[in-house]
Amino acid sequence: MDVWLPYLNRNICTGCGACITACPTSALGQVDSKAALVSPELCTYCAACEIICPVGAIELPYLICKVEDCNEPRT
Ligand code: SF4
Ligand code: SF4
Repeated sequence: MDVWLPYLNRNICTGCGACITACPTSALGQVDSKAALVSPELCTYCAACEIICPVGAIELPYLICKVEDCNEPRT
């Protein structure tokens, strides 16, 4: 199945570090003074980073589908 990951716009990121602190799995880290998804395999798609970013630099894409067509849990 496809793996969905947060999209982090480093052009907008100020490097405040809030998302790195908020990430419960340490999937995010600091690279060149900005946030980066350093361990994408650890991301659980919880959206904590998207919610906490003060400048909207992180977006989690979502797929909208009917329940009967979309009942596979994300692994
Ligand atoms: S979605 Fe959750 S687990 Fe994934 S990078 Fe953001 S805070 Fe971390
Ligand atoms: S919270 Fe937003 S601005 Fe701050 S480091 Fe993370 S992505 Fe960059």
